Amino acid sequence: MSEKAVFLDADGVLNTAIVIDGKPKAPTNVSALEIPHEVKPALELLKKAGFLLICVTNKPDIERGLMTQEDVDAIYNKMRHKLPLDDVIICYSEFADCYKPKPGMLLAAAKKYFIDLSLSYMIGDRGSDIKAGQNAGCKTIWINRHYPVNPPPDPPADHTVESLLAAVEWILKVGIAK
Ligand SMILES: [Mg+2]
Repeated sequence: MSEKAVFLDADGVLNTAIVIDGKPKAPTNVSALEIPHEVKPALELLKKAGFLLICVTNKPDIERGLMTQEDVDAIYNKMRHKLPLDDVIICYSEFADCYKPKPGMLLAAAKKYFIDLSLSYMIGDRGSDIKAGQNAGCKTIWINRHYPVNPPPDPPADHTVESLLAAVEWILKVGIAK
């Protein structure tokens, strides 16, 4: 039996990104973590439709000396507590196979949870998220947050929206149409 999943980037998708020099960045401690109100109900709609919800996030900040492991653990423990996520997969090194745009985190999750990637979706706010989804064989949705530095995914995502809820609505519509 195979599962279907929605893979979700963290910063700029599940939590508010902190824009520095025009680019979206991660909160570096738990007190800076902000989860917009729309996120939990949007995820609950996907859960109800039978999707596994898996956060996949690049977190090179420890390697770069910007965060401690305790900071990362506190942020993602809180996120898992607040949101109906089935798993959070973190890639700590930009030199590793897990690092988006490489598809390692999605492939590992597929193996672990028996996920059919062709029935699954990747939602992200940056081109590297979309490319990771494409590299894994998922359908992709780009949330265009209109950051000052905001290159669109190339090749483009299957769908572009401006909110997580709009991404979820599209998935539910496409899912029903199948
Ligand atoms: Mg992001």
